Amino acid sequence: MKSKVYFVPVSKADSGEIVKKKLKTLLEKSGVLGVVERGDKVAAKIHFGEEGNTGYVDPELAGVICRAAVEKGGEVYLADTNVLYKGSRTVTADHIKLALKHGFSKNATGVDIFIPDDTKKEETLEIAIGQKYIRTAKVGRFFIDCDSLVTISHFKGHMLTGFGGAIKNLGMGCATRQGKLAQHNNLAPAVYPDNCVACGACVAICPVNALTLKGDNAKISLDAKKCIGCANCVGVCSTFSLFVDFTAGSAVQEKMAEYAFAVLRNKKKKAVFINFAMKINKECDCWGGENPGIAPDVGIFASLDPVAIDKASYDIVNRVCKKNVFRSAHPDQDGTIQITHAEKIGLGRQEYDLVEV
Ligand code: SF4
Ligand code: SF4
Repeated sequence: MKSKVYFVPVSKADSGEIVKKKLKTLLEKSGVLGVVERGDKVAAKIHFGEEGNTGYVDPELAGVICRAAVEKGGEVYLADTNVLYKGSRTVTADHIKLALKHGFSKNATGVDIFIPDDTKKEETLEIAIGQKYIRTAKVGRFFIDCDSLVTISHFKGHMLTGFGGAIKNLGMGCATRQGKLAQHNNLAPAVYPDNCVACGACVAICPVNALTLKGDNAKISLDAKKCIGCANCVGVCSTFSLFVDFTAGSAVQEKMAEYAFAVLRNKKKKAVFINFAMKINKECDCWGGENPGIAPDVGIFASLDPVAIDKASYDIVNRVCKKNVFRSAHPDQDGTIQITHAEKIGLGRQEYDLVEV
C-alpha cells in the first residue's frame, strides 16, 4: 500500500497571504493534524535558522500550523535543540533570543518556544534502539514525552546529506549535542598540508580547537579525535587544504534515519510531517554565509509518513526543475541514502500517492 502525500503548489508570485491561505487549505483537506487530540502536549519541531541565514520556514506559516494544532486542543510549543558548533544556537537562552529575532514571537505563531537544555540531565533521554550504527540514541526528552509531534521542515540542499527534510529535522534536529556528535563523528575533513599558507582562519573558526599551526613555516594539522565534523574550516580555507570526506556521507545519513526512528518510536499515529519546498537553497538552515537558491518555490507537502514525504518532495522539486538539483549542488552526495535506510528500518514507505489539494 502506498502512503498519501498531500501537496499544494506555491510560486514566488504568491503573496504571503495567499501562501497562508494555501497552507490552511492543505491542513484542512488533508486532515493530517488529526494526530493532535484535546489535551495533548505537542512539540512542533522546527529549525529557527542560524544567525545570517534566511532560508528557515516563515514564522507566519509556522504560526498557521501551530494555531491549527491549538484549535485541536493541543498545548503547543515550537521546539528545537541546541547545536554542536559555537554560534547563536549553542545554549538555550541565546537560541531563544535568535528565534525571537527571526520573528518566532508568540504574536506571530500563537505559541511559546521550548528548547531543552541538554546540560540538564532531566531534559535529555537515552533510548536503546539497537540499530546498525546507533545502539542508544540521545535526544531531547521533550520530543519523547510530548503526546504528539508536528514536524515542520524546510526542504533544501545539504553539504553532507544531499538534502534535508523531515528525516533530517527529526534525526539530527531532536538529538542532544552528544547525539549530534554521535551522528557526525568520523567526519573529520581530509587535510592537504602542502597547500596550507598558515593564514590561521581555520584555527580561529574551529569550535573545538581541533586544528593547530605550530612554529615557523607551520602547516595545518588536525586532531581527528577532537573534530566534530562541523565543516566550518572547509568553508574558510581558500587554499583547498581542507576537504570534507564525502565518503563518510552515507553513514551520517543512516545514523540520522536511526535517530529519527528513536524519536518516532512512541509516536505511532501521533506524528505528522509538513515540508516547505520554498526558498530551496544549496545549504541548510545552519549555514549563516552565502547560500544560493538552487530551485524555484515548489510548494508545501503534508503526510503522516516521513519517508514518503521526503521522497515526494525530492521527486517533485527535481521534476519541476527537470534535473536533479540536489546532485547538481552536491555531486558527491546521494541524499536518497537516508530515504532508503529509513524505509529499511521501518519508518515508512518510499511509494506514495500524491494528492494535490
Ligand atoms: S570540521 Fe574543521 S572546524 Fe569543524 S571541528 Fe573539525 S576541524 Fe574544527
Ligand atoms: S585556512 Fe587553510 S591555508 Fe589557512 S591555516 Fe587553515 S588550512 Fe592553512
